[in-house]
Amino acid sequence: MRKRILAANWKMNLTQTQVDSWLAAFQSNNWSSESAEVRVYPSAVYLKDFQDFRIHQGAQNVYYKERGAYTGELSIEQLQSVGCASVLLGHSERREFFQESNELIAQKVEACVQAAFPFILCCGEPLDVRQAQNHKAFVLDQLRKNLEHLTPSQLDLLVIAYEPIWAIGSGLSASVKEISEMHLAIRTFLSEQFAEAGQNVPILYGGSVNAANAGAIFACANVDGALVGGASLDPDTFYQLWLALCA
Ligand code: PEP
Repeated sequence: MRKRILAANWKMNLTQTQVDSWLAAFQSNNWSSESAEVRVYPSAVYLKDFQDFRIHQGAQNVYYKERGAYTGELSIEQLQSVGCASVLLGHSERREFFQESNELIAQKVEACVQAAFPFILCCGEPLDVRQAQNHKAFVLDQLRKNLEHLTPSQLDLLVIAYEPIWAIGSGLSASVKEISEMHLAIRTFLSEQFAEAGQNVPILYGGSVNAANAGAIFACANVDGALVGGASLDPDTFYQLWLALCA
């Protein structure tokens, strides 16, 4: 059975005081599950705050070089040294605002594979591509280019997050039909590329997931959880999403 995952992407949000409150609220809820896992991707300055909590904490970004003169960047080794268990790669905000190309993301994937460091690879189409009905080809092209060097034996490092850009932070989630279609296309792609092993890769949905729509989204075939931005900042709402995932 594939692992189900609820992942919080805090982006560049929350101050130290707010993180402290979030963690206090987090601790008061029951997050144990046999089949599901909760993860938090905070700003890197807070990674050490998670060390006393038994929670999967990840980074929002990493550089592919091992170490050296790369001011402002973080290496896999540094992230691991503060207890970081995985990293987000290729989020649309990194692709758009920081000009991350498919080639650069492939280099980051390669670095993660070399270090056996798990990663969530984000993919998703902009609105004009969706309107032109080219969304499947666009997303599969991203995956093909980003995962170019991955082999079936390395697939246990991979989680995919499908996040249509027009649904991120817009309050307008993709419909259940749109989500199901794209997740099936991604599953088919994985099976074609990696045979049987492709069946085991969790595929998360991201884009305006909230307490009202989570149940329907989690009920879709090939949806193994969610990557959540806005709704993860409030610990109570985030817990509602957890309950919906575990229902
Ligand atoms: C995200 O940025 O990964 C995301 C899904 O954001 P939101 O939930 O706010 O749409």
